[in-house]
Amino acid sequence: MAKFLVLLGPPGVGKGTQAKILSDRTGLAHISSGDLFRENLKNQTELGKLAQTYMGRGELVPDDVTIAMIRERLAQPDCSAGAILDGFPRTPSQADALAVMLDEFNGHVDAVPFIIGAEDVLVERLSDRWTCRANGHIFNQKSNPPDKAGVCDVDGSELYQRDDDKAETVKRRIQVYLEQTSPLISYYRDQGKLIEVDGMQTIEQVTQMLLSALKM
Ligand code: AMP
Repeated sequence: MAKFLVLLGPPGVGKGTQAKILSDRTGLAHISSGDLFRENLKNQTELGKLAQTYMGRGELVPDDVTIAMIRERLAQPDCSAGAILDGFPRTPSQADALAVMLDEFNGHVDAVPFIIGAEDVLVERLSDRWTCRANGHIFNQKSNPPDKAGVCDVDGSELYQRDDDKAETVKRRIQVYLEQTSPLISYYRDQGKLIEVDGMQTIEQVTQMLLSALKM
């Protein structure tokens, strides 16, 4: 049966960074709903244009279109052994839909690492974040700077600051997380799947805690 991990945690806590590392180390596919929306936006698809109106305000894209987009991604052959989900689900109804979809794909949510971080640190982290244009690799001006300013170490593409990483939007994203996504903590705790990890350590320390908690 295919195994899926759901990474839970507030914006800026390091879900994307850890998901990429875990994906490299385990060979499981990395599915980032935010990256999928940004790719659609870059290609100016109808979905991308719709998503932009919500993303720009720090709000959630409606469940129906988000679920349909993830469904299409889960059907790709690289997800047949499982995947690491980063940014999805973000509401209890998305989590219910995920369970139904995984059932259909002969998989299940195996574990839900919840990366915990203090809000004031998150706002600062996001305003120092630089993202790679080509593949979404993540750097931080202070804690994880690229070798050459403005250039991705991994693929040499341009680094940019996401529009929604500006302070005002970040505050709204954190509020949306607290209101709409944080109910997933008890949702998955009640299923015995939640694994709490302190996200305020170095990238490598958080990775080590995740790998040992997940026995990977
Ligand atoms: P992220 O890259 O995960 O921070 O997501 C960036 C933005 O994409 C979010 O602020 C939302 O507007 C949108 N988004 C990403 N994932 C979801 C989701 N599961 N449900 C609704 N909106 C999402």
